[in-house]
Amino acid sequence: MVYRITFIPGDGVGPEVAEATRRVLEATGVQFQWDDAVIGSQAQERFGTLLPESALESIKRNKVAIKGPVTTPIGSGFRSVNVALRKQLDLYACLRLCKTYTGVHTPYKNVDIVVVRENTEGLYSGIEFAKDSPETAELLEFVARTTGEKIRRDSAVSLKVASYMASRRIVKFAFEYARQNGRKKVTAVHKANILKFSDGLFLNTAREVAKEYGDIEFTDMLLDATCMQLVKRPEQFDVLVLPNFYGDFISDLCAGLVGGLGVAPGANIGNDMAIFEPTHGSAPDIAGQNRANPMAMMLSGVMMLRYLGERGSADRLERAIVEVIAEGKSVTSDLKDDPNDSSAVGTSQVADAVIEKLLMPPARRTA
Ligand code: NAD
Repeated sequence: MVYRITFIPGDGVGPEVAEATRRVLEATGVQFQWDDAVIGSQAQERFGTLLPESALESIKRNKVAIKGPVTTPIGSGFRSVNVALRKQLDLYACLRLCKTYTGVHTPYKNVDIVVVRENTEGLYSGIEFAKDSPETAELLEFVARTTGEKIRRDSAVSLKVASYMASRRIVKFAFEYARQNGRKKVTAVHKANILKFSDGLFLNTAREVAKEYGDIEFTDMLLDATCMQLVKRPEQFDVLVLPNFYGDFISDLCAGLVGGLGVAPGANIGNDMAIFEPTHGSAPDIAGQNRANPMAMMLSGVMMLRYLGERGSADRLERAIVEVIAEGKSVTSDLKDDPNDSSAVGTSQVADAVIEKLLMPPARRTA
């Protein structure tokens, strides 16, 4: 079988980590046909828009894409090209895997947390009212009339939206992921004690969905308590499911627990479409220097292989990456004890080392 995949290199360090990832994916022996697409500044230059229809059409056709990070130019009119892409394709679940690997410097051991973040609404609904606008004045009047609450006239307002439909589908996604991947527990994170209606709806919906999954334990935890428990005893968590805004920073917190952005893979998934991409951004400070760590994007490639049903190849590629990290020789400077260590290798050499491991007979492997 040949998989047709939309390949978006992105910009900044994107093309470097994307090419390294393409090479290791091909070395697994799985057959790919790559459909190259551009978004972001390159698309702006070529097509006059940051998010061209040709890229969207390619993803809709192929249903699966792998993507490098994309810079959002300041003052572009887009809040973020990435957010716009997820919204247009209704990729409602942001999935981040945060796992400690031997060889990555972190005080934590045995962390293996899956973060499932709602991607489409919450505080990032994109509905905002500017200070001093006529719409804001109308809104403040409506609030005063219906609740008796007087909001100061010099306010700006951002809406936090939680629907039953979006809450239900994200919690179902978390439970389905848990069931299909041998996970034992789902924890819904919220502030329903304060936000009684929006987070209350999220929590009640999570409780309702949990009843459909008797084989998986369900708990809920307040956001503030979760932050403290993640730092104190992260190994107690398995799958976390969160509304959009909380999911944004809890997924970065979890990436920090396991050693940072260089090893944090991710995916944005909808009903029948998915884009796999590293958590990190375009890292303009090190772009074009062959210094970017490609592991996060390679591990996103592992997630893509699992999504495609190629579990054997996914396991082999993950093992090869884990062995390279554990040996600590062919790794980029961010994975060295001393970031100035001159033995650090470049992005493409990491790919060479992973490919060498992949092609090595199991008996000769070290880790
Ligand atoms: P960033 O993740 O690009 O960089 C933060 C720090 O981490 C930098 O010091 C960088 O050098 C380092 N870093 C990041 N990736 C690395 C890697 N693979 N190897 C080694 N070091 C790495 O975050 P930022 O600077 O806040 O964002 C830069 C741009 O990226 C912004 O325009 C932002 O909008 C965009 N961004 C895009 C995505 C995406 O495409 N999904 C995600 C986040 C940020």
